[in-house]
Amino acid sequence: MATTLRNVRIWDGEGFAAADAVTLEGERIAAVHCADEAPEVAHCIDCSGLTLLPGLFDAHVHMELNPDENQTPDPKRPDQTPLMIERAAAMVRAGITTARDLGGGRGWELALRERIASGELTGPRLLCAGQPLTSTGGHCHFWGGQVDSIEAARDHIEDQCARGVDLIKVMATGGVMTAGTKPSSAQFDQPTLDAIVEQAHARQRPVAAHCHGSDGIRAAALAGVDTIEHCSWVGQHGWASDYRDTVAALIASRGIRVSPTISRGWRRFLDGDQARLRLIRTAWSGMRGHNIAFVASTDAGIPDVYHHHLPQALPVFAAISGMSNKEVLTSATSGAADGLGVSHITGRIAPGLYADLMLVDGDPCADLSTLAQPAAVWARGRDVLPLD
Ligand SMILES: [Zn+2]
Repeated sequence: MATTLRNVRIWDGEGFAAADAVTLEGERIAAVHCADEAPEVAHCIDCSGLTLLPGLFDAHVHMELNPDENQTPDPKRPDQTPLMIERAAAMVRAGITTARDLGGGRGWELALRERIASGELTGPRLLCAGQPLTSTGGHCHFWGGQVDSIEAARDHIEDQCARGVDLIKVMATGGVMTAGTKPSSAQFDQPTLDAIVEQAHARQRPVAAHCHGSDGIRAAALAGVDTIEHCSWVGQHGWASDYRDTVAALIASRGIRVSPTISRGWRRFLDGDQARLRLIRTAWSGMRGHNIAFVASTDAGIPDVYHHHLPQALPVFAAISGMSNKEVLTSATSGAADGLGVSHITGRIAPGLYADLMLVDGDPCADLSTLAQPAAVWARGRDVLPLD
């Protein structure tokens, strides 16, 4: 039987709708309409005072990483699937109905993706990158994606596609988690990065590039990746010390999305060294000046960044970036769906799309903190967090 949510304020992924009712049928949104147009046989739920919005996206997570562990994951550790199942359930109950997994070593997240898709487990729809390409001894080499030539890179992409990945991830710069790599240093020369993107696109796989340093950001933009992860503008003087306006213009002109991985813990930048905060804000105002599109992300799985905490991260994202609440919400819903290539199935409240929905008390555009306590969540029509 259909379910109609009545007397509800609807934020459809881009703005408030004139309608005040939504009917769900099976896994899909059947209609967005006025309450008096509800189908006669529908089960009706009164949602007075509540706002319905699309389920949220976290565009950068690592399902296999344990946020409570502060060390490089042991490649021989036992199967992490039981913990990953718990993480997926907590995420979807928090309102995260789609997540992009940007790296794992053993393919456990690919198996999890299938078990969620089949309905056996509850969790967000997962888009998985498998083993990221990295240089020899490079960032996250322990995941098994080391490549030392264009030939090896092509072989690795073929391997990942055969395993069924949804996209390709490349480590364009060093990272924080891997000893011996430097976030400021590029890991691949331009011809190699170009060849990686060309090969992935030939296989219809978008490319997400991990980029802290500005040289790597520039190289990734020139190569035409689809999303730039972190985009930290790291230079000789640390985080955000090397913002380059010409590179930001290049990112914008190529339609590349930036996934800034701002977690709840970034509050430390707001409360900490004000000189660093000024550098970060200068980079943000530059990027925003070029109208770069952003997709909300947290890098969940790294130490102290929990998989279900995207809703708590979004107010911090707004405070760091200077974006309005509405812009931040868009980057976590319709904008993310556009950027991740899934707007034909989710990311908005519109007839025919999957019923990936979240109900909150109050108005999230006025106050993003309302997202932290959802009143109800549906994932593909299933009430994973039922309304009391
Ligand atoms: Zn990451």
